[in-house]
Amino acid sequence: MFEALTERLNAVFKRLSGRGRLSERDVDEALREVRLALLEADVNFRVVKGFIERVRSRATGAEVLEGLAPAHQVVRIVRDELTALLGGKAQALVLDPPWPAVVVMVGLQGSGKTTAAAKLGYFIHKRHGRRVLLVAADLQRPAAIEQLRILSQQAGCGFFSAGHGLSAPDVARAGVACADKEGYEVVVVDTAGRQHVDEELMEEARRIVEASRARQVLLVVDAMTGQDAVNVARAFAERVGVHGVVLTKLDGDARGGAALSVREVTGAPILFAGTGERLEGLEPFYPDRMAGRILG
Ligand code: GDP
Repeated sequence: MFEALTERLNAVFKRLSGRGRLSERDVDEALREVRLALLEADVNFRVVKGFIERVRSRATGAEVLEGLAPAHQVVRIVRDELTALLGGKAQALVLDPPWPAVVVMVGLQGSGKTTAAAKLGYFIHKRHGRRVLLVAADLQRPAAIEQLRILSQQAGCGFFSAGHGLSAPDVARAGVACADKEGYEVVVVDTAGRQHVDEELMEEARRIVEASRARQVLLVVDAMTGQDAVNVARAFAERVGVHGVVLTKLDGDARGGAALSVREVTGAPILFAGTGERLEGLEPFYPDRMAGRILG
């Protein structure tokens, strides 16, 4: 992930460092290349535009251009702004009593929702020692129920599914009632996705969130999908409401544009990064570390 972007940015900054003194034009030229590199990495063009404007306004003042090591300062500003774009300070998923606290996973089919639900259950159970119930409310994809059941055993979590005849919101509600009765502290609800954003999907997600009285709605975004992911993210943020983002498949070799756009587009923090198919492959997301990785 990000290799091509890192390589290009490094080349730009290397050239800039070779200059010694910098003029406003030098900085403009470098930022033009940064802009192209970001666009090629499939970062949303509005996000790129805002980013470049912010860097430019900080990097072309006399303080930087006439200060010591101007190229170094420009790189630092890019790093700062990249960190800000990714959310600034790292934010944790906070789940407090009264229990059970309910988390609903939403997103498109194939984004990694079921896997992320199980990984999250594992994380909350291992890291915070909470009793977690995984609820299978993805009724569109029969295999998802079985997949979640198997993963819940591996993750040390409870599992809830309901027989035929119930709607997805009813399953979610019944799952929460079961958690309440059996003393689970956290409920993670897996929901159905579609191939594309559609009204039915949004409506169902909204009803599940309502029925389960979700404390947190987490949007699962496949980092491999580029611009599409941005549209998905925007639609969910506007129509369902999103508290946080789980970026999946960051171990892949996509260009990474979604990762850089999703925070700004949804306004919700990226809370976790999924890196692989194993249950352990979920890490809290640190904007500064990711910015550092991108800048190499
Ligand atoms: P859902 O349809 O949204 O529930 O998606 P799934 O959880 O079934 O995931 C779809 C595919 O992506 C499966 O083959 C998963 O094993 C895979 N997957 C999920 N998360 C990751 C990840 O972080 N990295 C990689 N490489 N694969 C993942």
